[in-house]
Amino acid sequence: MTTFPNPRGKLSKKRALNDLTWLRVGGQADYLFQPADKEDLQGFLRDLPEGVPVFPMGVGSNLIVRDGGLRAVVIRLGRGFNSISVDGNTVTAGAAALDAHVARKAADAGVDLTFLRTIPGSIGGAVRMNAGCYGSYTADVLRKATIVTRQGEVLNLTPEDLNFRYRQSDLPEGAVLISATFEGPSGDPEELHARMTAQLQKRDETQPTKDRSAGSTFRNPAGFSSTGRTDDVHDLKAWKVIDDAGMRGASLGGAQMSKKHSNFLINTGTATAADLEGLGEKVRKKVYETSGITLEWEIMRVGDPLTE
Ligand SMILES: Cc1cc2nc3c(=O)[nH]c(=O)nc-3n(C[C@H](O)[C@H](O)[C@H](O)COP(=O)(O)OP(=O)(O)OC[C@H]3O[C@@H](n4cnc5c(N)ncnc54)[C@H](O)[C@@H]3O)c2cc1C
Repeated sequence: MTTFPNPRGKLSKKRALNDLTWLRVGGQADYLFQPADKEDLQGFLRDLPEGVPVFPMGVGSNLIVRDGGLRAVVIRLGRGFNSISVDGNTVTAGAAALDAHVARKAADAGVDLTFLRTIPGSIGGAVRMNAGCYGSYTADVLRKATIVTRQGEVLNLTPEDLNFRYRQSDLPEGAVLISATFEGPSGDPEELHARMTAQLQKRDETQPTKDRSAGSTFRNPAGFSSTGRTDDVHDLKAWKVIDDAGMRGASLGGAQMSKKHSNFLINTGTATAADLEGLGEKVRKKVYETSGITLEWEIMRVGDPLTE
């Protein structure tokens, strides 16, 4: 039997994850650990037996947790990891800080991280996913990321270490991002706030922001850049190929491809993770049949399906 460390933070056994994800689906994690602070996280990981898998999660805005749950210790950062400080054009934020809060605080200080305002995730998720929109990406502004390794060591990573790509970066297996330092261009606070208001409005007009979704379901097909690299140009839109395949509004159980934006997979209220993933796979198949394009998931799917 595995002996678990006894941390100061909250360790819950067989904890349902559905209420911790935007799509509101998913089974239980074997354990959910919410560390009190950095030292608590370090000690927990150091003392956790080697073979036990660790899955760090943010606020679950890019996740489908499958119905059978996750055979891992899920680590979710909260208070203790959500500070935001600004020094000149440098902004340092804890991994649990929400992107929107970081963007607002930066704008107050005349630093332009406005693109983060409409992304509903946390800083940990933004770094891991190289989150971006409106032509700017986390990779453009990140200067340093601090992690706690699976062995409990604190390490500082450079952007090169993270190897940013379109909606991806590399982290050592089981490592938990605890903070990130960004450098943004200067801007007039009032103008920055006005831009963010306009971006929020644009989102509401074009995306199902009031529905339960995980944002874009599939990456825009490769071909063409989000980080400016030649291997990373994505100007063929996933929504367009989904529309062309006739899958806008398609449904399976309680899952639906949004009628408002066809690359948004939504839980209409009764969806299971299997409905959502199954519908996504149906869309991929249909798109392949009609256009020869293989769509790649942007939403991360983790955990086990339910077995009979
Ligand atoms: C309505 C809506 C709109 C969206 N629009 C955009 C958009 O415009 N652009 C965009 O890029 N994304 C968008 N997204 C997707 C999502 O918000 C981003 O991918 C976000 O960065 C995910 O952050 P999160 O905290 O929710 O991470 P989660 O979904 O919880 O996790 C995502 C990944 O990050 C890892 N991770 C999270 N925190 C940590 C940590 N502390 N340490 C190590 N790994 C970690 C997880 O292991 C997982 O692999 C949208 C989502 C929604 C629901």
